[in-house]
Amino acid sequence: MKPFTTLKVPETLGFASATMDRVAAKRNDPAFIAEAFAAPDARFLILKEDVPVLSAPSDGTALFERSMLPPDLRSSEMIFLGRHGAGGQPVFVHVEATGSENPEQAMVETRTLIDLRSIAQQGLVPHDEVGLLACAKALSTWHRTHGFCSRCGARSRLADGGWKRVCESCSAEHFPRTDPVVIMVATHDDRVLLGRQPRFPPGMYSALAGFMEPGETIEAAVRREIYEEAGIRCGAVRYLGSQPWPFPMQLMIGAETEALHDTIDIDRDELEDARWFTRDEIKAMFRDEHPQGLKAPHPVAIAHHLLRAWFRG
Ligand SMILES: [Zn+2]
Repeated sequence: MKPFTTLKVPETLGFASATMDRVAAKRNDPAFIAEAFAAPDARFLILKEDVPVLSAPSDGTALFERSMLPPDLRSSEMIFLGRHGAGGQPVFVHVEATGSENPEQAMVETRTLIDLRSIAQQGLVPHDEVGLLACAKALSTWHRTHGFCSRCGARSRLADGGWKRVCESCSAEHFPRTDPVVIMVATHDDRVLLGRQPRFPPGMYSALAGFMEPGETIEAAVRREIYEEAGIRCGAVRYLGSQPWPFPMQLMIGAETEALHDTIDIDRDELEDARWFTRDEIKAMFRDEHPQGLKAPHPVAIAHHLLRAWFRG
């Protein structure tokens, strides 16, 4: 197997912040959280039902000053992401209540709700802020969907700056989930296997992907998913890199693998199509010049960079 070059995580890879200091050791110190919350340079991300709120796309930032928030907020109700940027600004996440009747609705109506994928693809805020928003979205989704203890069913409350929930009845502790997903390109005879799901934008083909299962290694998951979706048996698997994928809270584990044959048998429940692409076709797709109008995944996605790595290699 010819090894790929190491995947270099580029600036365009979305949803990963290079500069956030999570200050994880201090999350369980309420005095520290309160002090960070009160700091004049504290900044706030706002989410409405897991959708980021921007004051205006043209502002070029998702970080709000305190004056933009409701006046009676308490630090114990906020998610503390960590310290951001060269100045180490404390960053908190304010999750606005669901529904249209809440008193904060008027504030939201003067701003803009934009889905995180569009923010990343259109570069509406700096790259590191996309990473902060991704972390904020994953955490807020988790809090919104885990309000009750999975052990006893009682209500749970936010703790440790939002990085834990504690059951008010049995004291069980619950921690935010990240679901691992393998995403991989199989290669055979200097061609690469890509597929398309019906929900993809028209003409786009991407790396196959699927959730890992309990008790499974990354290598086994890569081989199983390609066999299930495309009927191809694969051999060696090589890890290339990873990407947080907050839709809603996944970790994409990027890999390449060597196909042992090239006969495709598509699972039509999963894929609309799967096929082999030559190097020339991939080059044309990167340039948006494929004769059939086929397109590569967007550069914010790790799938794009798995393909780039194969193309370079
Ligand atoms: Zn409980």
